[in-house]
Amino acid sequence: MGLKGTKIYSIFTYTCPRCQEGQFFSKKATYGSGFTQLNKRCEVCNEDFEREPGFYFGAAYVSYALTVALWIALFVALTVFDAIGIISYHFFEDGVMYFILGIVLLITLLPVLYRQSRIIWINFFVKYRKDAIEFNELKRLEKLARKKDRQK
Ligand SMILES: [Zn+2]
Repeated sequence: MGLKGTKIYSIFTYTCPRCQEGQFFSKKATYGSGFTQLNKRCEVCNEDFEREPGFYFGAAYVSYALTVALWIALFVALTVFDAIGIISYHFFEDGVMYFILGIVLLITLLPVLYRQSRIIWINFFVKYRKDAIEFNELKRLEKLARKKDRQK
């Protein structure tokens, strides 16, 4: 795939936003127990996935945006299906059907939305680097040096 290095790649493969090699989530399966568990750090480049306390509160905004997009997509899909004659759908008469389908879709996609919102959120803050391993090692050494300075 020619997408390596883009945020799209990290988001759709659930890989570390910094090196795009290591896994962001501890469990590979989106549908399975423990789908919410993040790795603390990237096992390849040592990027810190936990950042700071409460970092992932911001992912709620992404989750909200994805949910709204889903409702809109469902509306468009139903309208298109009606137009090409697959189903008969009229928003004002079939509002309940729209609502029920939307809820079912949301529940079904919950693990996907959960994971997508977190990986998208961290991608806002962490840029891909080809030299991710060296970059993070340097950062780690600088931090160590600063700590030593303070102890003097
Ligand atoms: Zn990494």
